[in-house]
Amino acid sequence: MGCRGCQVACKQWHDLPAEETQNLGTYQNPQDLSFDTYKLVQMREAVIDGKLNWLFFPEQCRHCVEAPCLETAGEPSAIFQDAATGAIIYTAITRNLNVDEIIESCPYNIPRKAEDGTLAKCDMCLDRVQNGLLPACVKTCPTGAMNFGERDEMVAMAKERLAIVKKSYSGAVLLDVDSVNVIYLTAHAPNLYHEFAVASNATLPITRQVALRRMFRPVTNRVSRFI
Ligand code: SF4
Repeated sequence: MGCRGCQVACKQWHDLPAEETQNLGTYQNPQDLSFDTYKLVQMREAVIDGKLNWLFFPEQCRHCVEAPCLETAGEPSAIFQDAATGAIIYTAITRNLNVDEIIESCPYNIPRKAEDGTLAKCDMCLDRVQNGLLPACVKTCPTGAMNFGERDEMVAMAKERLAIVKKSYSGAVLLDVDSVNVIYLTAHAPNLYHEFAVASNATLPITRQVALRRMFRPVTNRVSRFI
């Protein structure tokens, strides 16, 4: 329903400041993710089958299974994957790297940088999860639109839900389900929600170093996932 409770809960838990914004005539506010906004409910209007629809999309890092940003950084002290949850975590050390390359490598246009070059994005509320709590956005959602748990269970839940939604919306899909850990279900074509709803082609070619890192990466038992 686009209440933006998840957006506010994310700010609150991470103690992020509010930003000065402008009303541009849509429900969406602010207009983009930023170093201080990790989650943003995107809103578009679309005429579908002759009817006006409001389409909401809670934008955030997808915690990619094989994250291009992590591979581009190539520096585990700056960007690493938490083995237990699969969360892709950024540290302040990102400011010492080529941050523009890292930003460009993200197929979902997620990382944002501070003035000093430090990168930030959703951290899956890893501190909460490690203490047995749900991520703040999931916990606060009043409609149960988001769920969090073991990947296999979440994928099964998503497929079950998709079958139900498809009865009313034949174009419903799960987005990039095999390559991300934040799985979205959209009732309509994803490009109607916004331009980065599905993966765009990463702008960086996979370098030899990245290819080698992929070959020798240990297989981790990733256990916690969003839908
Ligand atoms: Fe990295 Fe972008 Fe994937 Fe998030 S969505 S893990 S920032 S590549």
